[in-house]
Amino acid sequence: MVSRLILVLGDQLSPDVAALKSADKSSDIIVMAEVADEAAYVPHHPKKIAFLFAAMRHFAQTLRDDGWTVDYTQLDDAAPHASIGAALLAAAERHGTSKVVATEPGEWRLISHLNETPLEVTQKEDDRFVATRAEFEAWAEGRKELRLEWFYRDMRRKTGLLMESDKPAGDKWNFDHDNRKPASGSVDFSGPMQFTPDQITNEVLDLVEARFPENFGTLRPFWFGVTTTDARRALTHFIKGGLAKFGDYQDAMLQDEKFLWHSILSMYLNAGLLSPLEICRAAEQAWLDGNAPLNAVEGFIRQIIGWREFVRGIYFHEGPDYTSRNALGHGRALPALYWGGETKMLCLSQAIDQTRTEAYAHHIQRLMVTGNFALLAGIDPHEVHEWYLAVYADAYEWVEAPNTIGMSQFADGGVVGSKPYVSSGNYIDRMSDYCKSCAYSVKTKTGEGACPFNLLYWHFLDRHRSRFSDNPRMGNMYRTWDRMNADKRETILSEADAFLRDLESGKPV
Ligand SMILES: Cc1cc2nc3c(=O)[nH]c(=O)nc-3n(C[C@H](O)[C@H](O)[C@H](O)COP(=O)(O)OP(=O)(O)OC[C@H]3O[C@@H](n4cnc5c(N)ncnc54)[C@H](O)[C@@H]3O)c2cc1C
Ligand code: SF4
Repeated sequence: MVSRLILVLGDQLSPDVAALKSADKSSDIIVMAEVADEAAYVPHHPKKIAFLFAAMRHFAQTLRDDGWTVDYTQLDDAAPHASIGAALLAAAERHGTSKVVATEPGEWRLISHLNETPLEVTQKEDDRFVATRAEFEAWAEGRKELRLEWFYRDMRRKTGLLMESDKPAGDKWNFDHDNRKPASGSVDFSGPMQFTPDQITNEVLDLVEARFPENFGTLRPFWFGVTTTDARRALTHFIKGGLAKFGDYQDAMLQDEKFLWHSILSMYLNAGLLSPLEICRAAEQAWLDGNAPLNAVEGFIRQIIGWREFVRGIYFHEGPDYTSRNALGHGRALPALYWGGETKMLCLSQAIDQTRTEAYAHHIQRLMVTGNFALLAGIDPHEVHEWYLAVYADAYEWVEAPNTIGMSQFADGGVVGSKPYVSSGNYIDRMSDYCKSCAYSVKTKTGEGACPFNLLYWHFLDRHRSRFSDNPRMGNMYRTWDRMNADKRETILSEADAFLRDLESGKPV
């Protein structure tokens, strides 16, 4: 007799996921479904859809091989389901049970959807993270400001990663000071491990090609791994070839170098094909074996047990209205250049072109190029959020929204960061080789050919003066602005306004 349905969502592809751990192979039925709503609530990149469907089909096969009964609906079945709830209702009828066990989704929208499904649904806490939601709440309780550094130290103590008894390895918690070098010369890492699609994946590629022809993004060549075995090989490949220089060059950008020394593991990690601790232990071992320096390994581990856990905590702490916040009142529509429209700004075209081909851009491209531009130009943060959610293979709301709404757009009014991440063209010039080949001149501050980041930077500071001029971390910027003569300030503001008018009118900028 069937006792319960066990729901496994597309980003829960791990045998250790909470609902599966509690299931009984002899009587429970696993439900997995490729549904139209999830594939289309934002126009996801075709590589992202293909990755998730292919990984789901492979995972379902692994479960069957392991003796589980899996009720799997494909999007190209004769009667596919519109939503997860519809798939559960149909399975409940087929198998004669109304009991469902799910692992809590990483998105308020889906949590409510499951709560509203007229079945007996139990949502178990997702325990694939280092910090539980309750631990984060306890940490946040009573703090005036939630800042990563203190939380991160607690995660180091909790996991014992890079700890020598109660002290941090190397006597420092954070080696960022040694990182952030601009890259020069050639990249001696071959980039992420690439996989050849098998028959299951090829069927998914055909389906995605037929069903999502209009979505922004290039589907083929498709090189992502789709199983835990693949993802572990990609991890080993990165630890051997990329990790040692990850720290030094994590903020660097180079023309036509899409991956540099980054791991390209976030899509595997977020879908459940890898666990955060297995990645961090592999990195720690490389340091213990003398194969990677401490600054690289600490920097890498901080991203995973620090930032990744921190932003998840913030997402649940802040509640379901988080993605509609707009503290700076920005309302300009997302320009067409984000969807591949023409632009002369080389930094933006590089970041967006590789987003289109790979469903990937690294952190500084997301934060200091596409994010910085959207913030300076006053783009509606909700539109910016939906763009990031759509175009990256690793994007799920729990991790994407605090990074976009919070860190990148300051739309949460300072929950994630104490000041907005804004910069003029100088930062991009320092960290990349883009500017030397750009149609604009980064050294030119006004007039013909002036880099738009230079104009928009001051425009942003000027229009948000009342909010930021008292921020101790921004005082220098305002002092520099105030020292400029009035004519120069006026020229900058009027040229920035003209640029924004061109941007709004759809003129290529
Ligand atoms: C506007 C914006 C949107 C973002 N959206 C997402 C998203 O949807 N999904 C996502 O996983 N990351 C997101 N990030 C964070 C970060 O850019 C990506 O995690 C990273 O680029 C993934 O590439 P990688 O695997 O090569 O990472 P690496 O540079 O190799 O870093 C290692 C790992 O650290 C983790 N990590 C690093 N930075 C962050 C961070 N800020 N928040 C959470 N985890 C982090 C990732 O799991 C990553 O795989 C976003 C950042 C910004 C600024
Ligand atoms: S000059 Fe300005 S627009 Fe061009 S690449 Fe540099 S920062 Fe980007």
